Amino acid sequence: MECPECGKKLDSAAPVDGNVEKLPADGDIMVCVYCASVLAWKTNPQGPPRFERFDVETLDNSEREVVEAMRNLILTSNENGGKLVS
Ligand SMILES: [Zn+2]
Repeated sequence: MECPECGKKLDSAAPVDGNVEKLPADGDIMVCVYCASVLAWKTNPQGPPRFERFDVETLDNSEREVVEAMRNLILTSNENGGKLVS
């Protein structure tokens, strides 16, 4: 599965609540770790799941804050050659 924005292969996902036993569900919001695009997980009965672009403005304020924090972390890391800085 590729990110529809940057085309990089996405082959794993990690939940923000730390529960690694939980599998992504249809409609779950994801952030591409490469380009920080906001995506929605779409299950596909005929094949592998896919990602669709998602409009972050449709989230409520608390959800949007979490997504924006993740995006900022990824973008900051990318600007620093993959390293997080404080
Ligand atoms: Zn991407």
